[in-house]
Amino acid sequence: MRVGQGYDIHRLVPGRPLMLGGVAVPSESGEEGHSDGDVLLHAVIDALLGAAARGDIGTHFPPDDPQYAGISSRTLLTRVRQMLQADGLAPVHLDCTVILQQPKLRPWVAAIRERLAADLGLPVGHVSVKAKTKEGLDATGQGRAVEAHAVVLVEPLPTPPGPPPGVWT
Ligand code: MG
Repeated sequence: MRVGQGYDIHRLVPGRPLMLGGVAVPSESGEEGHSDGDVLLHAVIDALLGAAARGDIGTHFPPDDPQYAGISSRTLLTRVRQMLQADGLAPVHLDCTVILQQPKLRPWVAAIRERLAADLGLPVGHVSVKAKTKEGLDATGQGRAVEAHAVVLVEPLPTPPGPPPGVWT
């Protein structure tokens, strides 16, 4: 059993989509970013990479690399899942918190959970998304940024059936 933790913050700017967990949430401003800026997926990706002890999102997808300009963070998540799979690992439970002053996220939480569950190959009952504000404090509280935290539990993939060790076939 392994655990991984991830965190991310992005500035909010007018005229950009607000992407959270692969869902476009209606908002006057969205994340500034080289990719689509999905702060929640970036935290989830870092949590997955942490559980695999495989560095961080910037190691694998450098923000100054033009091939990642405007890329969907769901594509990056797929690649990271494949990396874990190659290591014989799979996520089994995800818990995250999004910190955003406005808009209120509660109406969108169910859709975000479903999208994350589908993209991670998990039942919705193993994906938790919590929404908080910063009570008007600091840059996030003043609506100038959005933050996300994620914790993921990862387990080894079941070993495929085969001959017991030491048996010649
Ligand atoms: Mg980011």
